[in-house]
Amino acid sequence: MNIAVLNETSPGEARVALMPDSVQKLVAAKASVSIEGGAGLGAARTDDDYVAAGATVSEDREALLTSADVLVGVTRPSADVFKRLRKGGVVLSFLRPLDEPEQLVAALENGLTTFSMELVPRITRAQAMDALSSMATVAGYKAALLGADRIPRMFPLLMTAAGTVPPARVLVLGAGVAGLQAIATARRLGAVVEAYDVRAAAGEQVRSLGAKFLEVDLGGIQTEDKGGYAVELSEEALKRGRDLIAEQAKTADVIITTAQVPGRRAPVLMDEAAVDGMKRGAVVIDLAGSTGGNVTVSKADEIVERDGVTILSPTNLPATVPVHASQLYSRNVTAFLNLLIKDGELHLDMNDDVVGPSCVTHEGKWMNQRVREAMQGQSSR
Ligand code: NAD
Repeated sequence: MNIAVLNETSPGEARVALMPDSVQKLVAAKASVSIEGGAGLGAARTDDDYVAAGATVSEDREALLTSADVLVGVTRPSADVFKRLRKGGVVLSFLRPLDEPEQLVAALENGLTTFSMELVPRITRAQAMDALSSMATVAGYKAALLGADRIPRMFPLLMTAAGTVPPARVLVLGAGVAGLQAIATARRLGAVVEAYDVRAAAGEQVRSLGAKFLEVDLGGIQTEDKGGYAVELSEEALKRGRDLIAEQAKTADVIITTAQVPGRRAPVLMDEAAVDGMKRGAVVIDLAGSTGGNVTVSKADEIVERDGVTILSPTNLPATVPVHASQLYSRNVTAFLNLLIKDGELHLDMNDDVVGPSCVTHEGKWMNQRVREAMQGQSSR
């Protein structure tokens, strides 16, 4: 079984899908691994590191593609790459199958078997493969650092001979994986942190990190599904949350928003008036930019200035911490690949409760019901 890794080509992407320590594990499982020259440099890994780990390094992208049984990537390969892989080849990466299913038509038509890291079920058995959580952890951490770097004040309470410096106030909206890591990081830097989430279970986790959980009376409506994920709220329930947030925003130095509802546009948690009510020098970091944003005035990957308030919406913070983001991602994909390798050969068991649900296309068919529905939604637009 030949596993290939190419240079990532999307702008600003510095991660690599497999780090040398993972290559070693795959080689030990009797797979062979080929890496495109320079693929690990963004994550501080040289071609020599890969050779030492047992990989073959090649500059011949075409040969890498035609000889690959499995192509592993971080972001979705281009349509051109999908077309060059041999029929029946396997692709494993983030594929954005629910947001942009039409981008996978080339893979479908070429008879590729594609697995999406976004679709790996969040069951106990698949925890080691949960790349969404790994990347959200990195993004939440980096968002807190960005906030600390951008505001014209310090985070911690300091008592000095020149007087007392009060701590910064950080408000985190959405206390899932990214939000909790943002809270933990801001707390470590000494900020006073408050957080809001619609899931009641988040309250305990927020408090255990030493932050205050903001409670909103949502009238007893259901806010989460059976899987523990937030559901789309009614406009009335969203408005109650927004009113509370606008009030708290007036005294915040940094607001980090991470609210998402799987498969839907991100909920709007702050409108223009809420941003305009913030202090001069305050910073908003909207981490939901790739699904429409939590803040009406944020623009994905742009810096918006509004009357002394800066609004950032970086869509790929994990790529700004490429070593650790790659290390975590590489371990996630390697755990998944181990499900596909049997005696060094490719073995696809679609009845496996992790492999089957993660599959997007196989033998010319859409394999996932949600992706099929997303595809129908696209074509009826
Ligand atoms: P996510 O990225 O889908 O959403 C981020 C957060 O936004 C969630 O906490 C959600 O409740 C919140 N949110 C949604 N709408 C909101 C609104 N209108 N106002 C405020 N907040 C809103 O979620 P995630 O971080 O990927 O994970 C969410 C859940 O999944 C958590 O319960 C987490 O513990 C669980 N989880 C389980 C596993 C596992 O079992 N393997 C792994 C990761 C996460």
